Amino acid sequence: MSVVCPECDNPLDIDADDVDEGEVIQCDECGSDLEVVSSDPLELAPVDAEGYDDEDDAVVVDDEDDE
Ligand SMILES: [Zn+2]
Repeated sequence: MSVVCPECDNPLDIDADDVDEGEVIQCDECGSDLEVVSSDPLELAPVDAEGYDDEDDAVVVDDEDDE
């Protein structure tokens, strides 16, 4: 069973028996996170990267001078 990446149309060699619904895999070609929305037939959907803020998340350390 072959399925293509919804983001870049790269054919992905995934065995439906190896993945579960809700599992997130990554496309080798474009690096997109793809969620297995259905295992029969195998269907993938791009995971919305929202709320996945990994960039330059400045942590403001307020050195409070109390007491
Ligand atoms: Zn891809």
